[in-house]
Amino acid sequence: MTDLECGVAACAYWCSGLCSREKISVSGGNARKKEETGCSSYRARKERGEDRLEAAGIAGPCCEIACDAQRCVYNGDSVCEADCVRIERCGAAAPETGDETKCASFIARRS
Ligand code: SF4
Ligand code: SF4
Repeated sequence: MTDLECGVAACAYWCSGLCSREKISVSGGNARKKEETGCSSYRARKERGEDRLEAAGIAGPCCEIACDAQRCVYNGDSVCEADCVRIERCGAAAPETGDETKCASFIARRS
């Protein structure tokens, strides 16, 4: 399990800097830099409070992360092995899709 922080307040699963999902997926099969990764579990929330999802789950720091970014030093057989991961927006605007987010903890392997 990884300590997961998230700065994507526009996501329905976001709650006070944490994620209310027990498991997320990170994309980036060909990623060579963090901007080419993304949180596939992102779901845009609507503006109204009742569309937020965190109330249905328990937001906590521990999360299982399945990850396609094979070039990241923390990737172990498509599972994230980092102790701590941070997901952020990838750009100034609120994301429309998970492609507009990034794993800010990505570090490219030297090869
Ligand atoms: S963007 Fe990903 S990590 Fe952040 S709250 Fe949403 S599902 Fe969780
Ligand atoms: S730190 Fe690396 S392995 Fe972990 S989720 Fe981010 S990109 Fe994937």
